[in-house]
Amino acid sequence: MEELKELICKTHCIFYKENKKEEYSCKGLIVIEDLLERGSLAKIIDELKAPLEVTFKHDRVLSEVVCRRCDFFIDGCDFRDTKCSYEAPPCGGFLVISYLTEKKIISVEDIKRLYAISYRL
Ligand code: SF4
Repeated sequence: MEELKELICKTHCIFYKENKKEEYSCKGLIVIEDLLERGSLAKIIDELKAPLEVTFKHDRVLSEVVCRRCDFFIDGCDFRDTKCSYEAPPCGGFLVISYLTEKKIISVEDIKRLYAISYRL
């Protein structure tokens, strides 16, 4: 996980602070960790350069599959604030997931399958 934090949080997360230990977990990072079990993704993620351009076109589904399960969802993520209009950035993990889905490197269905979510979102 420490290596992944370097790769995702340090490179892509605006909230990252060196040596800061978080008591809670950002679900974006956990989803990336689960996705990385697919070997082919590791190299792609490793080569992503910040800043990533995203449009959040899959946000409706990703907010349910990723953010709703995040420790910061209720209180602690301005991006998920009900009044937010995408001016506040998401965490690095969510940014990377959004990018990978928008570039069709992974599909939203892949992520739903990962968590055995079969209902329509
Ligand atoms: S964008 Fe916010 S709520 Fe969504 S996974 Fe990241 S920290 Fe959690």
